[in-house]
Amino acid sequence: MSFSTLGLAPALLRAVSAQGYTEPTPVQREAIPFVLAGRDLLAGAQTGTGKTAAFVLPMIQLLAASQPHNGARPRIRALIVVPTRELAMQVEESVRVYGSNSRRSTTIYGGVGFGNQLAALRRGPEIVVATPGRLLDHARQGTIDLGGVEILVLDEADRMLDMGFIRDIRSILALLPARRQNLLFSATFSNEIRQLAEGLLDRPASVQVTPRNTPTDLVRQVVHPVDRGRKRELLAHRVRTHAVDQALVFTRTKHGADRLAKQLLEDGIATTAIHGNKSQPQRIRALNDFNTGRVTLLIATEVAARGLDI
Ligand code: AMP
Repeated sequence: MSFSTLGLAPALLRAVSAQGYTEPTPVQREAIPFVLAGRDLLAGAQTGTGKTAAFVLPMIQLLAASQPHNGARPRIRALIVVPTRELAMQVEESVRVYGSNSRRSTTIYGGVGFGNQLAALRRGPEIVVATPGRLLDHARQGTIDLGGVEILVLDEADRMLDMGFIRDIRSILALLPARRQNLLFSATFSNEIRQLAEGLLDRPASVQVTPRNTPTDLVRQVVHPVDRGRKRELLAHRVRTHAVDQALVFTRTKHGADRLAKQLLEDGIATTAIHGNKSQPQRIRALNDFNTGRVTLLIATEVAARGLDI
C-alpha cells in the first residue's frame, strides 16, 4: 500500500518520498485518514512506529486547507504537547521536514531562557511544540495566546502523566477553545490515560498499532550474566573487542550515569552522559556527538532517553 491512497496532498507526498519513505507505517495508514476527516483520535503507538508523521502530515494538510484570509492576525493554530525538550525539538524538526518549511513553527520548553521563545512567539508561529511546564509559564505571563488553537496533539501522554504533568495538562486544556480537534498518542493505556481521553476526546476514532510494551522485531535482546562490580569492565571489553560499535547505556540514577561515564572515559572510551541535571546545550551536544559517531557510548537515565530517535 502506498501513501497516495491516504488522501494526502501532492506536496506532502513529495515530502514523504523525499524522506525515502515508500510505504506508510501501520499507524500512519490507520490514523492519517481519520485525522484528515477532522476526527478526534486515540492512538496507541510507541516511539519508532512513525507516529510523528501520523499526526504531522495530516495536520499540515488541514492547516493549509483552511488558511486564514490574508491580513488576519497570525495565531497559533496547532499545539503539540510533548513530555521532554528533546522530543519537542525532534517533533518540530518533523514539522519542518514534512511541511517543507512552509509553516511557521517553534518550540517552547524549559531549562533555557525566555528571550528566544518570546521573540519566536512574537513572529506569530502557526504550530507550537511545547512541554507542559514552560507552556503554562508563558500562558500565565500572557506571552502566548492559545485562543486560536484548532488542533491539539498530546504526544506520549502516558509519559507526561508518569512525569506528573496531569495538572499542567488540565490547566492547558482550560486555555483552549472548546471547538477543536484532539489527537492523543500514548504507548500504554492506564486508567488515568483513559480518564484523560474520556474528558478530552469527542467520539474518537481509535487506532492501536503495537501490542502493549513489546519491543520491536528489529531489536535482538541478549543477557550477559555478570557480577555487579564487573559490569563496567565487561562493557569496556565489548567495546574494545568491537563486539559493540556504539551503544546507548541506561543507568537508574543521574549520579550513576555520571560516575559510569567518568570511569569509561578513564578507560579510554569516548563516552558522554545525558540526564535531567544536564543543561540544554549539554544535552544537545551529547546527542549530536552520539549521532555523529564522535562518542561511542551515551550513558542515559531512562527519563532523558525516552522518545529519542537515534
Ligand atoms: P517516530 O515513531 O515518529 O519517532 O518515527 C520513527 C522513525 O521512523 C523516524 O526516524 C522516522 O523518520 C521514520 N519513519 C516515519 N515514517 C516512516 C515511513 N513511512 N517509512 C520509513 N520510515 C519512517
